[in-house]
Amino acid sequence: MELKPLPYAPDALAPVISAETLAFHHGKHLQAYINNLNALLPGSGLEGLPLEEIVVRSEGGLRNNAGQVLNHEMYFSQFRPPVADNRPTGELAERLDAAFGNFEAFQAAFEAKGAGLFGSGWVWLSADEEGRMVITQEANAANPVQKGLRPLLTFDVWEHAYYLDYQNRRPAYLSALWQIVDWDVVSARL
Ligand code: MN
Repeated sequence: MELKPLPYAPDALAPVISAETLAFHHGKHLQAYINNLNALLPGSGLEGLPLEEIVVRSEGGLRNNAGQVLNHEMYFSQFRPPVADNRPTGELAERLDAAFGNFEAFQAAFEAKGAGLFGSGWVWLSADEEGRMVITQEANAANPVQKGLRPLLTFDVWEHAYYLDYQNRRPAYLSALWQIVDWDVVSARL
């Protein structure tokens, strides 16, 4: 596997996520997970499978690194430059309203799950088998595909995702991220 280039300029997400954070997070952290995955895959019997399948079928270091590659590819590909009053439309908006009442209530629940996750991990919006919207906390490198869910949107709450820009203020990072979510990308994952 190779590092996929970011689908936007390095400074395109500022000030929500700085170019410096992207340089480390994408260029160093994700690259390291890819290097580890490439070193562990040969001989595992899982070579050539889709990444989601490797995550579901592997364990130990291979699963941790495959999970982090999958998580980060979904994270980095779901953003665009900041816009005010950024919100989903259409089918996704309707399903969020059905599950949480309204978009603001969904945002509050999602941020609370992200802020409340102890240690390193990810907060996710997924669809269950009936298409219902669910929010889950996933520790470390876990991904909702391991629970049979379809992952749609994720905020990385490892400290490396926000410490350069927000230091210890994880809730401020979480609430700022809504400005840069590309809801067309998220909707396409439904
Ligand atoms: Mn990360």
